[in-house]
Amino acid sequence: MPSRCVVGGCGFGYGPSAGQKVALHTWPKDRKLRKKWDKFVKETRKDWIAGSDKSVLCNLHFTSEDFLGYLQWSMGFKRKLALKPGTIPTIKPAKSSNRPSPFLNLLLSAAILFTGNLPTQSLRILSCMNVATINTANFFRHQQQYLQPKVEKLWKDDQVPILHSLKASGADGKLICAGDGRSDSPGHCAKYGSYTMLEQTVNKVLDIQVVQSKEVKNASWCELEGLKRSVSFLRDAYNLRIAVLITDRHMQIVKWVRENLPHTIRRFDIWHIAKCRKSLYTHIQILLIHEAVGKWRKSIVNHLYWCAASTPSGDGDEISAKWESVAFHVQNQHTDLNNARFPACAHPPLVEQRPKEWLTPRKYICIKTSPNHETCHLEALYKVKISQIIQIGQKCPI
Ligand SMILES: [Zn+2]
Ligand SMILES: [Zn+2]
Repeated sequence: MPSRCVVGGCGFGYGPSAGQKVALHTWPKDRKLRKKWDKFVKETRKDWIAGSDKSVLCNLHFTSEDFLGYLQWSMGFKRKLALKPGTIPTIKPAKSSNRPSPFLNLLLSAAILFTGNLPTQSLRILSCMNVATINTANFFRHQQQYLQPKVEKLWKDDQVPILHSLKASGADGKLICAGDGRSDSPGHCAKYGSYTMLEQTVNKVLDIQVVQSKEVKNASWCELEGLKRSVSFLRDAYNLRIAVLITDRHMQIVKWVRENLPHTIRRFDIWHIAKCRKSLYTHIQILLIHEAVGKWRKSIVNHLYWCAASTPSGDGDEISAKWESVAFHVQNQHTDLNNARFPACAHPPLVEQRPKEWLTPRKYICIKTSPNHETCHLEALYKVKISQIIQIGQKCPI
């Protein structure tokens, strides 16, 4: 994504824009100077934390005396515009006039934002078609002045009554919440992460927190920080405590919940387990994976859901016994499963010939019966007791 000036109400990119020539300047290396630049930006936007090596300011926030060879650059004799060392930005963007924006311009900006499209590309399509349109600086101004405040207001208008009604109905200490984080880009290079908390009994999102990766150690810690903020928001602002918390199997989260929410039952989202091939196979202790196991994946996932759905009491031992039976089932052994809680498969006798081949232990898989020989990989999974894994029909909230 092309760089844009980070000053609130500006948002210019490199090149000619709105009839003026725009150059961009990266954040200075000197720490004291960086802080002064941050202070300037903070005066124009409250959400600003600190500039990174990728943040830029445009030349419109400096006077012409702040540059080396400004005249030559403005006349086109010089390509690069360099700042004098130690320069601090001083010129804030002019406050917008009270003249309202044309309605269709605002509608266009809203359509781009709400459909999640990239403004630069969307507007370029229109200009390639020779359709008179707004520029990206206008889009960012609309977004900051009108659209985001409106979105925030609508969300608050929705969120507050839900929380009040939960409080009034005596849900404190009975909340069943599913939480999950999402990054703005895949991998560990995300700049922002959002954390969403969904209440299962009313099926409503209670809270969304946005965390910038700079606020924590790195991007992979955004999820835990989001959870902490959501939990403290519910507890401090509305005095609502969570009875059951369903999350994915991030070990940071597991540890934090164990240490900080002793009265909360922790459960793991079945959808997250089912989507992970590695965790599925290691859970049923198949050490040697043959490609034939892949044909069984769908059945194994179905079995995982069935284990949860067929045990409404949530009895961990029973679910665990059912789950372990799949390792025998894939070998065409449906009775004498060596487990008192679930001695035989629950399906009717299989008569018809199946397209999937049965797995044979000698050739393809090795069933580990003793839990005393764990590898380090399995160890992490074993901490995740099957009884804690199951929550019927949970899905990732976002
Ligand atoms: Zn600017
Ligand atoms: Zn069976």
